[in-house]
Amino acid sequence: MIPFNKPFLSGKETDNIKDAVLSGKISGNGKYTQLCHQFFNEKYPAFGKCLLTTSCTDALEMSAILTCISPGDEVIIPSYTFVSTANAFALRGAKIVFADSSEQHPNIDENTIESLITPKTKAIVPVHYAGMACNMSVIKEIANKHNLYVVEDAAQAIDSHFINDLGQRIPLGSIGDTAAFSFHETKNIISGEGGMLTVNNPELEKRAEIIWEKGTNRSAFFRGEIDKYGWVDIGSSFLPSEIVSAFLYAQLENLNTIQNQRIKWWNLYNQLLSSADLKGRIDLPEIPVYAENNAHMYYIVCESLDLRNTIIARLKAENIHAVFHYQSLHASPYYASKHDGRVLKNSDRFTDTLLRLPMFYELTESDIVKTVNIIKSCVL
Ligand SMILES: *Cc1c(COP(=O)(O)O)cnc(C)c1O
Repeated sequence: MIPFNKPFLSGKETDNIKDAVLSGKISGNGKYTQLCHQFFNEKYPAFGKCLLTTSCTDALEMSAILTCISPGDEVIIPSYTFVSTANAFALRGAKIVFADSSEQHPNIDENTIESLITPKTKAIVPVHYAGMACNMSVIKEIANKHNLYVVEDAAQAIDSHFINDLGQRIPLGSIGDTAAFSFHETKNIISGEGGMLTVNNPELEKRAEIIWEKGTNRSAFFRGEIDKYGWVDIGSSFLPSEIVSAFLYAQLENLNTIQNQRIKWWNLYNQLLSSADLKGRIDLPEIPVYAENNAHMYYIVCESLDLRNTIIARLKAENIHAVFHYQSLHASPYYASKHDGRVLKNSDRFTDTLLRLPMFYELTESDIVKTVNIIKSCVL
């Protein structure tokens, strides 16, 4: 059996958890949470303030609170994304204005964004699909021109970079006013459920910490900056326990090993599929010149829904689990009646034709060869 995903364990996770448990401090913002924050700030100096959260969904909800989204505000979000990207803003009463994907890849088509802006627009939320950067120079330029916030959904984008016009590598998650990462067990670096908010706009930093701590200035109190703490703003319980951060820290210490292995498998898929005669019926991922690949996912785009169904069924018959991905949110049961009727053809095409192949650390070369051979047999 080749599953679609198998969570990778470095082996140190349980040691760290044991250490956290025996230390007697297992609520949040203790030693391991701080080690994780420190790790990120050292490895990616471009990151602003880092705050671990219990999920990427929570980091997105914090972003919606931080950017003061209120009823009637409009937020521009790609339709081809996970529900949390939109839901976080819908919870604050925002109207979600869905944008189409690019023709070449599932990321938001940056050329359509400006036509969606109205006086009510407050934020743009680019999603770095498969860990490949959106065109952040163009998105930031539009945001600056119209005075909008940018919140990066960097759920899949750990250790990936945007390449700017000067050829500099800018870590994803450091570009938006805020960014949200996920450490869900399906991502590259995991803690079961887990996430992180990065706050790159210094004006939002102080409030982020308060929202994170249930609307109190408890963090400042523990730093000795004030002599008592209280309710100073809205907020919620967004910080994970030390048990979660202890697990995460073991993963972070193995980040390079995990990334290198995934990139090796990604390249093998790509090499085998590029050299196969796919009769023009399957497209392989196109990495834009301004994006890097963190091997979060290997996907193919089939000529039709039928071909995708055939490939899924033939792989399944050999016990290989390949899965499709998002269903356009503008056409979802919750949002279809609220959508303004624009046709988002690329989002709908990826809904029907994109297929994700097994991708995880412990995959083997023969797993990949077998998977690719079955795919090849489907296009003959
Ligand atoms: C995984 C994912 C999320 C949600 O992450 P959680 O940590 O499960 O809340 C949000 N957006 C995208 C694009 C994702 O891939």
